[in-house]
Amino acid sequence: MYVIEILGKQFDIDIDENECYNCKNDLNSYGYPRGWINKRRLLISRWIIIEKLNIDNLESYIHVRHICDNRLCINPDHLEIGNILDNVRDMDERGRRALGERVGTSKLKNEDIPKIRHLYFDLNIHKRDIANGFGVCEKTIDNIIIGKYWKSF
Ligand SMILES: [Zn+2]
Repeated sequence: MYVIEILGKQFDIDIDENECYNCKNDLNSYGYPRGWINKRRLLISRWIIIEKLNIDNLESYIHVRHICDNRLCINPDHLEIGNILDNVRDMDERGRRALGERVGTSKLKNEDIPKIRHLYFDLNIHKRDIANGFGVCEKTIDNIIIGKYWKSF
């Protein structure tokens, strides 16, 4: 048994032969470990990403992916921000945005703008990936980033 410290909080882990840090702290119904930090309960994997990227918060529409496919694992090296396409798909619960079908002609919605800025500035997602995720061309993402459009945001 080992202990890992995340944002000042300690969690017990077992390290297995795959170097997975197996944590069984407060598992949710899907079997992912959770923890209380700063009076908030969140999946520990999300805390890891927050610490790893040195950001203040991880928006709920951003997925954290376990590259080892082990839900119990909280090894920072085994966790990464999910595929941008998955994230965008989840943002649009009703599936109005047909991914990949309307590249270059899709219209962004107002609420997409802060998301795009967050993905780019806070999470360092590549512009091309953001453009693909939203089904727009890279130039559009460029314009949003430099504030040419949607200045009110
Ligand atoms: Zn792992």
